Amino acid sequence: DLYNEVQDLKGSIRVFCRVRPCGTTGDSAPSCLDVGLDGELAVFTDKPGDHKIFKYDKIFDGSSSQVAVYEHLEGLVRSVMDGFNVCIFAYGQTGSGKTHTMTGSRVPGDLEGRGVNYRALDDLFQLANTRSGEVRYSMRAQMLEIYNETIQDLLTDYPPGTREYKLLATKPSGQNVTNITQLAVECSEDVVAMMEKGEKNRKTAATQMNSDSSRSHQILTVIVEGENIITGARTSACLHLIDLAGSERTDKSLVEGDRMKEANAINTSLSALGTVMHNLAAKSKHVPFRNSKLTELLADSLSGQAKVCMLMHVAPENSSRGETLSTLNFGNRVA
Ligand code: ADP
Ligand code: MG
Repeated sequence: DLYNEVQDLKGSIRVFCRVRPCGTTGDSAPSCLDVGLDGELAVFTDKPGDHKIFKYDKIFDGSSSQVAVYEHLEGLVRSVMDGFNVCIFAYGQTGSGKTHTMTGSRVPGDLEGRGVNYRALDDLFQLANTRSGEVRYSMRAQMLEIYNETIQDLLTDYPPGTREYKLLATKPSGQNVTNITQLAVECSEDVVAMMEKGEKNRKTAATQMNSDSSRSHQILTVIVEGENIITGARTSACLHLIDLAGSERTDKSLVEGDRMKEANAINTSLSALGTVMHNLAAKSKHVPFRNSKLTELLADSLSGQAKVCMLMHVAPENSSRGETLSTLNFGNRVA
């Protein structure tokens, strides 16, 4: 059982923070954040002169481009070609820019605006091409979402609700979801088509569940298999690109029914993720992967030799200060 193996190696966990530009969601209130030149982020409180400082491996201010963000992830992404499992998470409240970072612009031809998902896949194709005299690579991808602790296949042609997706504890990631659709991807066009299909399915599912897509985790997984042409040595690894559900705390006194269920499921899985990463970083013997579908799905891609990056997203407006502090504290806890 993979999950019960002693996790004696801390996966290298990196924490970055991206600040959304002020006012993109129509909130013209002044910013409570200041990004310093030395990679520090100051959060100002209501009291004049009072502030809290956070430090991360890298902070991107509101003017950072998609290219600049990807440049800092490139090495991590590429290590999947050498057999390392990699997870890149976008964490933050709804409206903080997670989908902007991961998916980015949907305008056809807007290559500048493209997010991490497209860039990462393109990069892998290029690298495979560069190494083609040495290693033969094949890649396939799956897209799924976790909503209320249930897995939905975003690439399936079956009508929603007609198939069941179970997690297999004995299989590594990339093989651990029953019935999931996996598509071979060979070029950017394949990726664009796949993403469009995934997004369409995600919208349909959200409508049927009378919810919105910010209430589920979306996970794009690329499974990379390589065979060295000379030595015959094989590698197999997964890159997981994860757009997490909004981390904002729901006021329990204001919601009930389905919204309450959603809020509880999100809270459970995000806190399970925090605990798992904290325990891995602390080299704790007990890592409770099974406390949520998200951590169970990604277990072997969070531990052992895996490489993990948390992209904390924050909205700069004063009105978001509480959620911003809670996001930044989450980032501190997992580092
Ligand atoms: P989330 O996925 O966290 O809910 P979105 O990515 O949908 O947030 O971002 C909310 C809004 O802010 C969108 O209109 C998005 O285009 C815009 N936005 C987010 N981040 C940036 C950024 N770095 N630069 C420009 N616009 C951004
Ligand atoms: Mg989003």
